[in-house]
Amino acid sequence: MTAVVSIAAIFGVAVMISAVVAVSAWRRRHEAIGYLSIAVLAAGSVWWSGMSMVTLFWREPGPALWAISLTYAGVFLLVGGWWVTSKALADRFWRLRPRTALILAVEPVLCTIALATNPWHHLFIDHLKQTSVGGAYAAVFGPLFWVHALYCYALLTIAGVRVFRLFIRGAGRKRGSLLAVLTTLPGVMVNLVGVLSGGNLVDLTAIGLAAGAPVMYWMVRHDSAPSAALVSHHDLFRIMSDLVIVADGERRILEINPAAARFLAGADRLPDVFGELPADGHSEFTINDFAGTGTDLSVQISAVLGRRISDTAWVLVARDVTEDNDRRRALEDANARLHTQLATIERLRSDLAEQASRDHLTGLHNRRHLMTALEALPASGARFSFALIDIDHFKLINDRYGHTTGDDVLRQVAQRLSAVAGPGDLVARYGGEEFAVVLTGCGAVEAAARVDEVRRAIRDGDHAGVPVTVSAGVAESTTADCIRDLVHTADMALYAAKEAGRDQVRVGGLIPQPVPAGGPGR
Ligand code: GH3
Ligand code: MG
Ligand code: MG
Repeated sequence: MTAVVSIAAIFGVAVMISAVVAVSAWRRRHEAIGYLSIAVLAAGSVWWSGMSMVTLFWREPGPALWAISLTYAGVFLLVGGWWVTSKALADRFWRLRPRTALILAVEPVLCTIALATNPWHHLFIDHLKQTSVGGAYAAVFGPLFWVHALYCYALLTIAGVRVFRLFIRGAGRKRGSLLAVLTTLPGVMVNLVGVLSGGNLVDLTAIGLAAGAPVMYWMVRHDSAPSAALVSHHDLFRIMSDLVIVADGERRILEINPAAARFLAGADRLPDVFGELPADGHSEFTINDFAGTGTDLSVQISAVLGRRISDTAWVLVARDVTEDNDRRRALEDANARLHTQLATIERLRSDLAEQASRDHLTGLHNRRHLMTALEALPASGARFSFALIDIDHFKLINDRYGHTTGDDVLRQVAQRLSAVAGPGDLVARYGGEEFAVVLTGCGAVEAAARVDEVRRAIRDGDHAGVPVTVSAGVAESTTADCIRDLVHTADMALYAAKEAGRDQVRVGGLIPQPVPAGGPGR
C-alpha cells in the first residue's frame, strides 16, 4: 500500500504542477497562440495524472475500468495540445483553423465511442489485471488501443521532429526547443514500458509528461520561442489608430477594431459604409462617424485569398487623413489668396506706373515716358521721326480767355495730335504748351506732311471761338543720331518755324526744305 501512496503522491505533484501551468497559460492565452495550446496540454496532463491517481485506489474492476477509460480525455488533450504547440512554436502567425481542429477531433471521438462500447466488444481494453502495485488495476489492451497508440505516437513524432528542426535551424536562440523535445522523452519511455508490460504495471505516463508543460510554458515566456510576443496581435489590433475591418467574400463585416467601430454604426456589410469599393487597391472616402463628423479616410483594401473562393476575405485598412487634408486645403486656400493679392498688387503697380507716365491735364504720356521710349527706339533699328509742336502765342490765349480756356485748348490740341498717331507712334506732352510726336516707320518729309495736316486741322478747327495755331519742328533719326541731337534738331526747326512767322512746320537737319504751307499763315 505504501507504493500506492507514494505513486499517488507523485501523481498529486504532477497534478499541481500541471494545474499551475494550465492556469498561468490560460491567463496569457491572448498574448500568443502558444499559451492557449500549452493551457490545453497542461489541462490534459492534470486530467491524466488525476485520473491515474484515482485509478490506483479502485479495487472493484468495474469502476477501475471506467476510471481508466476516462483517463483518455487527458490523453487526447495532451497529444492534441502538444501537436498544436509545436505548430505555434514553429510559426508565430499560425492559427488553429476550425477545419484542422475538426480533423484533430476525429480520432478522440472514435476512441471515445470505442471506449464507451468496450464492454460489448473488448477491442480497446481486453480486460483488467491486478498489478503488484498494491493490487491496483492496469489494462491489457485490445487491437483498437494499438491503433490509437500508433496514431498518438505518430502525432507526437511529427510534433517532436518539427520542434527539433526549430532547434537545428534556430541555433542558440531556440535552445528551449531541444529541451521541450527532451522533456517528452521520459513520459514516452514510461508509457512504452507501461503499455508493453501487458498490464503488469500501472500507467505512469502522466508523471513523465507533466514535466514537459512547464518547459514549454517557459519557452514561450522567455522569448526562446518565435511565438513569444510582448504585445499580442490581438492587442495591436485593439490599440492601433488605423481602422481595420475584415470582411468575408460577400463583403459581410466579420471583425473590426475599436478605431473602426466609431464609423460603422452597426453596419453589416462593407458597401453600407464605403459604397462600391474597388476590387483591390487604394482609394479615398469621406464618411461620417457616429457623431456626424465628416472624416476623410485613405483606404487600402486587400483580398486575402483562401484555398477556396469562399475562403476569400477582404482586409480593409483605413487611415484618418482629415487633418492632412484640412492642412492641404488651408494651404491651397492661402495660396489662392496670395495669388489674388499678388495679382491685385501687380494691377496697382501697373496702374501706378501708367499714372506716373501720364500727364494729368491732357491724358497724354508725359515727357519722362517719352524720353524713356525714345531712348529705346534706336536699338530697334527702325526708322522714325520726331516732331515738337508748340502752340503759338499761348500766353496771349491765357491772358485773353483765362487759364481754364487755356487748359481746354491744351486738351483739344492733345486730342487732335492723338488722332494722327498710328499704332507704333507716340504722342506726349513735352511741357507747358509744347507737345512731341514720335512717328515710326517714316522719314522727316512724310512726318512733316502728317504733322502739317494736324496743324491745319487745328487752325481750321473750332475751339469755342479761340483762334489756335501751332508751329512744329520735325527731325528724322539716323543711326548716328543720339536722342539729344534729334530733339535739338527738332527744337531748332521749331524755332525756325516761329521765326518764320508761326503756324507752320519746319524740317530740321540735313533736309532744309520747308513744308509747303497748306493755307495762309497768321
Ligand atoms: P510763342 O508763340 O513764342 O510760343 O509764345 P507763347 O506765349 O506761346 O510762349 P511762352 O513760352 O511765352 O508762353 C507759354 C505760356 O504757356 C506760359 C504759361 O503760363 C502757359 N502755360 C504753360 N503751361 C500751362 C498750362 O498747363 N495751362 C495753361 N492755361 N497755361 C499754361
Ligand atoms: Mg513754348
Ligand atoms: Mg507757345
